[in-house]
Amino acid sequence: MTGPANDGERISKPAHVRADANMENYDKVRDSFSWEAAESALDGLPGGHLNIAHEAIDRHVAAGHGEQIALRWIAKSGARTDYTYGELFRLTNRFANVLRDNGLERGDKVYALLGRVPELYIAALGTLKAGCVFCPLFSAFGPEPIHARMEIGGANALITSKRLYQRKVAGIRDRLPQLRCLFTTDDAKVAGTRHLQPLMDSASDIFETVPTDPEDTALLHFTSGTTGKPKGVVHVHQAVVAHHTTGRLALDLRAGDIYWCTADPGWVTGTSYGIIAPLTNRTTMIVDEAEFDINRWYDILFEEAVNVWYTAPTAIRMLMKAGAEALGGRTFPHLRFMASVGEPLNPEAVIWGNDTFGQPFHDNWWQTETGGIMIANYAAMDVKPGSMGKPLPGITAGIVKVADGKATELTAPMSMGELALRPGWPSMMRGYLHEQARYDKCFKDGWYLSGDLAMRDADGYFWFVGRADDLIKSAGHFVGPFEVESALMEHDAVAEVAVIGLPDEAAGQIVKAFVALKPGFEPGDDLRLNLMGHARKRLGPAVAPKDIAFRQNLPKTRSGKIMRRLLKARELGLPEGDISTLESDEA
Ligand code: ATP
Ligand code: MG
Repeated sequence: MTGPANDGERISKPAHVRADANMENYDKVRDSFSWEAAESALDGLPGGHLNIAHEAIDRHVAAGHGEQIALRWIAKSGARTDYTYGELFRLTNRFANVLRDNGLERGDKVYALLGRVPELYIAALGTLKAGCVFCPLFSAFGPEPIHARMEIGGANALITSKRLYQRKVAGIRDRLPQLRCLFTTDDAKVAGTRHLQPLMDSASDIFETVPTDPEDTALLHFTSGTTGKPKGVVHVHQAVVAHHTTGRLALDLRAGDIYWCTADPGWVTGTSYGIIAPLTNRTTMIVDEAEFDINRWYDILFEEAVNVWYTAPTAIRMLMKAGAEALGGRTFPHLRFMASVGEPLNPEAVIWGNDTFGQPFHDNWWQTETGGIMIANYAAMDVKPGSMGKPLPGITAGIVKVADGKATELTAPMSMGELALRPGWPSMMRGYLHEQARYDKCFKDGWYLSGDLAMRDADGYFWFVGRADDLIKSAGHFVGPFEVESALMEHDAVAEVAVIGLPDEAAGQIVKAFVALKPGFEPGDDLRLNLMGHARKRLGPAVAPKDIAFRQNLPKTRSGKIMRRLLKARELGLPEGDISTLESDEA
C-alpha cells in the first residue's frame, strides 16, 4: 500500500464551533467515559427495564416537551405535516393498542413495508412500545426479497400500503404461514387486510409501554447485501444507549435541533439515526417522502433551516456532479454539522463540502452489525479528508492480522489489516438470525472482525482501504480500491468510479476501473488514456488501473453502496449471486 495520499492535510474548524461541540475535548471525554454513565442520561423503566420507545418519546412528554415538533413530514407534493412529541406519544400508544387488539404479543415480529410516510415512524415506535420486534423493509424491494426477509424473521404482522400489498405481497402471502395480521395504511377495501385508520381511530390513546428487558430483541435489520446474501442482524433495547450517546457525540445532536437524516429506515442508518437517536436527543427530525432530487434537497436544507444533516457519499457525489449552479445562490447559515456514512468518502468530496458549505463533511464508519457509529470525525476535531476519524469514547478499535487461526493487533502506524473492535458496546448485534456459524466467524481472540480493511495513522485517525473481499494484489503490491477510486475522483471528468482486480498471469491481478462521467464529458479512447495517465501520475504504474471502462452509472445497492463483486462476476462470466438489493445498474 502506498498509504493515503493526503495524510497530513487537515481541515480545522473555527474556535467557536469546537468549543461549542458536544465533545470538545476528545481525550478528556474518552478517558472519563463509561457506558454505565452514558446510560444514566436515559430514564430507564422501574426494575432495570428499558424500552427504546420510552426513551424516544414518553419521557420527553413526561418532562413537559409535548408541544415540541418531533417529526416534520414533507410529502412528495411538498406539503408539510408536523407531529409534536405529544401527538407521536398518543399515536404510538394507539398503534400499540391496535397490535394488542389484534392478538400480537410481546416478542412477535412486526414488519413494515412502506415509503417514508408518518405511519412508518408511528409503527416503528408503537411496535417497540408493545414489546414486539420491529423490522423495516425497503419499499422498493421486489416480492422475492420481501418474502425471503419475512420468512427468515418469522414475520407475524405487516404494515403496508394498498399499492405495495397488491404489487408485492399478495402473491407471496400463501408462503408466509406465520403472518397473522396485515394492515394497510391507505385503503379500506383490500381483501385479506385490515385498514389501519379506523382501527387507530377506535383504539385508546392510553398504553403503558411494555417494560422490556434491556436484552429483549427490539429490531431486526438486514445488511445491505453488498458482499453477498444479506444477513438478518438482531438488536436489543439496550442499543438505545449507544444510539443516544453516539448521536450526541458523533452527530453533535442537541435538543431542539432541526435534523435531517436522508437514509431510508429500510436500512439501519434510517432507524438508528433516522428514528431513534434524533428522538432520544429531542430534535425535530425532517422526513422527506420523495427520492433524491438535487433542487429539492437544497430547498429542504435551506427552507427548513436544517442544523444537522446526515447523508451518504452517493448523494454527495451527485450534488458535486451538479456543480455550484445547482445551489442557485442558496446559503445555509443554520447548517452546523454535516456527516456522511455508508461508503468511503473520497477526500475530493470532503473538500468540496468545505468549499461549498463552509465546513467539511464529517465521515463516520459503522455497520448494521455494530448498530451505531463506531469511528467518526466529530465536531471539534480537525478533519483529515479521506479518513473515517477516530473511535468514539467507549469504543476500542484496532487493526489486526488474522493468520494461522490467530488475530494479532498491528500497532505500527499505517499497517494495513482488518478493522476490528473490542465487543461490549450496547448496540452490538446479538446474532445473525439462523446463521450461528456465520456469526461465530466474526469473532477471534477477543476481537469482532468487521470484514473491512483499514490503517491507523500515528495520530490515531483510521483510513479505510476496502472490503476484505475487494482487496487486489497486483505484482506483489496490495491495492486498496478506495485509494485508486479517490485518485480517479480528482479528475474533472469523473463523477463516480469503482475499481476491481482481475486475474492476470504475469501480475497475479490487474486493476480495472469502471467510470461514470460528469455531464459534458464523452467516453472515448482519448479520455481513457488521459485518465490512465492521471492515475499513473498519482499512484504509480503498479497501482494505477490497466484498463478503464465507461458506464452510465455503477451497480449499487438500494442503500447506495457500489457492488464491486457484481462488476467482477460479470467480467469473469461468473454467476451474479444475491442481487436482491441491487438498484441502479446502467451499462
Ligand atoms: P453486506 O454485509 O450484506 O455485504 P454491507 O456491509 O454493505 O452489506 P451495511 O452494514 O449496510 O451492509 O454496510 C456496512 C459497510 O459499509 C461497512 O462494513 C463498510 O464496508 C461500509 N461503510 C460504511 N461506512 C463507511 C465509511 N464511512 N467508510 C468506508 N466504508 C464504510
Ligand atoms: Mg457487511
